[in-house]
Amino acid sequence: MIRFNVPPYTGTEMKNVQKAVENMHICGDGEFTRKCSEYLEKTTGTAKCLLTTSCTQALEMAALLCDIKPGDEVILPSYTFVSTANAFVLRGAVPVFVDVRPDTMNIDENLIEGAITEKTKVICVVHYAGVACEMDRIMEIADKYHLMVVEDAAQAIMSTYKGRPLGTIGDFGCLSFHETKNFSMGEGGALLIRDPRHIEDAEILREKGTDRSKYFRGQVDKYRWMNYGSSFLPSDMNAAYLYAQFEVADQINDTRLSRWNQYYELLKPLQEAGKIELPVIPEGCVHNAHMFYIKTKDLKERTELIQFMKDNDILTVFHYVPLHSAPAGLKFGRFHGEDRYTTRESERLVRLPMFYQLTAKQVDYIAGKVKEFYGV
Ligand SMILES: *Cc1c(COP(=O)(O)O)cnc(C)c1O
Repeated sequence: MIRFNVPPYTGTEMKNVQKAVENMHICGDGEFTRKCSEYLEKTTGTAKCLLTTSCTQALEMAALLCDIKPGDEVILPSYTFVSTANAFVLRGAVPVFVDVRPDTMNIDENLIEGAITEKTKVICVVHYAGVACEMDRIMEIADKYHLMVVEDAAQAIMSTYKGRPLGTIGDFGCLSFHETKNFSMGEGGALLIRDPRHIEDAEILREKGTDRSKYFRGQVDKYRWMNYGSSFLPSDMNAAYLYAQFEVADQINDTRLSRWNQYYELLKPLQEAGKIELPVIPEGCVHNAHMFYIKTKDLKERTELIQFMKDNDILTVFHYVPLHSAPAGLKFGRFHGEDRYTTRESERLVRLPMFYQLTAKQVDYIAGKVKEFYGV
């Protein structure tokens, strides 16, 4: 059986976890949390990185730091994970969904402006499959209307847009280290902060509303309750697990890209024959092989393909059910404009196994079975 996902594992994780235990510092902000944050700051160039317990929590921090108030509107795609919307709904905001582009499944940058009202406060973009949204255009719109930009970069670590790492272009970037992502600590995430003026508020928010971060740096002699806050920091044992993967980040990224390119080459003839569609990587975008998906003709064909693959011991899966048509989406949000692509394209998309330990031989086998299904 070829699983759809296997959590990334390099073999050196437990050595680091052991070290965290021996440090006798297993709560948050120990040696490995610091190392992970410094690594992300160095490689992305962001002003500040704060490790969190999930991308969901990083998104919630971003919503709080954007000072979302009840009735504010947030523009986002409907084709995304629930956390993108929940973070803002929890603060009383109305999610305003905009259609995606069929080529990348990212928010259509040309439809954003039409969805802006006087209540709009934030544009929250999602870099689907680690492929960048059209950030130049999006930042231009945000500037024009004085909106904040949050990047849900859960899938996008090590991806870039015109040379800039994803998660560092908007005001806040949110990464995920869930076991289904390219780098993992089981459950975990990070908040990237572009503008240094948000750093102090973010640290207070993450440390239960106290200035404990300053206290640990020796900047104040006692820590006090400064503002509202919660506990968003992960255990140093989890960070230790993650850091082992950062130590071989290029190897993990290169291996994934190599499997991705192999899928692409093997399945290209099916695209040329008009049977399926393959992912599109726009000019100026460097992706991280987070996901390899294909698009079938329609929902019926996709269901048959998933079953055929399963019969051959290969697990393939579809992805998001558009949020605007789900019960909570109907209750909390609205779709702006026409749903031309969100529903239709989401029904055709199927993801093939993609993980660090996947072998070239397995990719050969999987692509061979997809071809067999199409009689090629
Ligand atoms: C995985 C994912 C999340 C949630 O990440 P967690 O770390 O599990 O909270 C949010 N948004 C997108 C687009 C994701 O892919």
